[in-house]
Amino acid sequence: MISIVAPAYNEAKNLVAFIEAMTPVLDKLGDAWEIVFVDDGSRDDTLGMLLAARSNDSRVKVVSLARNFGKDVALTAGLRHARGRAVIPIDCDLQHPPELIPEMVAKWRAGADMVIGVRSKRTEEGLLRRGSARAYYWVMRRMNDVAIPPNAGDFRLLDRKIVDVINDMPERTRFMKGIFAWPGFKTEKVEFQANQRAGGQSNWSLFKLWRFALDGLFSFSTVPLKIWTYIGGLSALAAFVYLIVTLIQKLFFGIDAEGYASLLIVMLFFNGLLLLSNGIQGEYIARIFEEVKGRPLYVVGKKWGFDEPAVKLGVGAPSVDPPGRDVVS
Ligand code: UDP
Ligand code: MG
Repeated sequence: MISIVAPAYNEAKNLVAFIEAMTPVLDKLGDAWEIVFVDDGSRDDTLGMLLAARSNDSRVKVVSLARNFGKDVALTAGLRHARGRAVIPIDCDLQHPPELIPEMVAKWRAGADMVIGVRSKRTEEGLLRRGSARAYYWVMRRMNDVAIPPNAGDFRLLDRKIVDVINDMPERTRFMKGIFAWPGFKTEKVEFQANQRAGGQSNWSLFKLWRFALDGLFSFSTVPLKIWTYIGGLSALAAFVYLIVTLIQKLFFGIDAEGYASLLIVMLFFNGLLLLSNGIQGEYIARIFEEVKGRPLYVVGKKWGFDEPAVKLGVGAPSVDPPGRDVVS
């Protein structure tokens, strides 16, 4: 079986078109399939539309979260409910072309464990956004232990063994680009051109993007935490050199050290650095705090299509109920 996992937040406008585009593509694959929709606490009629779709076709399955948990958590919930041997996360705003799926499945059948959809041209985005994306991937490549492929989003095919590994990753910061890359295995790529959003609007503000970028950095790298040892060491060394220079000037040349302005500048500069380093430590401490609380990642309000108990499919598959605990069912 092949599972599609589609998180949906206020997507009532797009769902009919999405399912209509999806069904023929999946039918042609020749395998059994399911679409696991995760309604991420939508405030429009998304859930109603999903249930209507389910009454037409029982291969449509619905997990409805108790509130909006954000895309990455919704995706995590979907991955934990998918039962397929191959699982394909996809956005349901039609930005990810379903026509790419046969190509992904072909590569998977030929032996790839993960087939990543890579955006070939990001022309639908502004210059600034493209530029910052490039800079971001550059930094991530240098700071991370895990290589995160550039321009690859959530649209990809994952073999069951990768899904099982991801389902066992308990961390709360669901930086999916990193989480997908972490397990490894044989990875291939297919290129695609992202479409414009079919309807509604994207939920990304500039500030959200910034937080997202930081999440990636702080949850996959400890370089920002460790770098202060060197910055501190270097500035102490600079201070020492300056001390020697000042002493020599005073003792041998009789030049008095002066400079209210330079004193102020240096003080402000280093106070700034200190606050910055504190802030970065704070980022990590906040993450430790979130992890230590150990709350479930999401709460399922209700779900449809998951009556049969979870089957243990592969190595490291989650035991009967996934760690994102269901409160009502
Ligand atoms: N989404 C979600 N929860 C959210 C925000 C978004 O499940 O809080 C879903 C949304 O319905 C869509 C996908 O995640 O299927 C991508 O969202 P969006 O189009 O807003 O992001 P972008 O394509 O701009 O990255
Ligand atoms: Mg989108």
